[in-house]
Amino acid sequence: MGTWQDIFAAKIADMHLTESWILQEDNSLQVHVLKPGWKEIVQRRVFGRFQCSQCFHEWSSAKVHILFHMRWSRSRGRGMVRMRAFRQACRRCPEPQLEEPKFSEDTMKRLLHNLVLKILKYFYHLPIQPSDFLEVVVDAPVVGPHDSARCEGCQLGVCSESRLAPALDAWEPLTDADKARTHRTLKRQGMRPCATPTHHPSPFNSNFLWKRCCCIGSSLLCVLAALLFVLLYFTRK
Ligand SMILES: [Zn+2]
Ligand SMILES: [Zn+2]
Repeated sequence: MGTWQDIFAAKIADMHLTESWILQEDNSLQVHVLKPGWKEIVQRRVFGRFQCSQCFHEWSSAKVHILFHMRWSRSRGRGMVRMRAFRQACRRCPEPQLEEPKFSEDTMKRLLHNLVLKILKYFYHLPIQPSDFLEVVVDAPVVGPHDSARCEGCQLGVCSESRLAPALDAWEPLTDADKARTHRTLKRQGMRPCATPTHHPSPFNSNFLWKRCCCIGSSLLCVLAALLFVLLYFTRK
């Protein structure tokens, strides 16, 4: 099974991004606490599995939230993503510690696919449609209510916030046709990230310039041919 970093690197390569992007797990990340230039995504209600490191009790939760902070650094020439999956503690142990959630590889791939689309939207200004995102929230049977006292997300107010404002960043399911379209679009465009929309490089610029040169060149040739014809016509006389 691949790590977050492996899958992220593969997704970045899939989207034909040549710049380096790094993903780091960071348990100090806070919701809505961002420095200028950073963007935030909160993926709510992901299905995850936990195991207690003391009594080895296992449980599942459909209310695991994952926080991503990301930014493109022009000076360093690289992108950075920090992520935090909110932990849960065992119900059976009197003094449990917070355990990291585990996700299926499919869930990780879907999450990171959506994350990379957000990177393309925020930092490369590509037109990403809601239908380009993959569905992450899975309907899986989970026994029992959500144990708020043992949920890190609840303690930090992330779970309650999701009840009030569900899915600000809804990832919508992606059809095969959409996938193919996104893939083609990205492949065609030689992409460079841009920190501000004003320096936003149009992927069609070089193509446009080339066409313009051809147009001017052929017009000049026509004028030259006409001049030559007129010159020859009069010198023959
Ligand atoms: Zn336990
Ligand atoms: Zn919670």
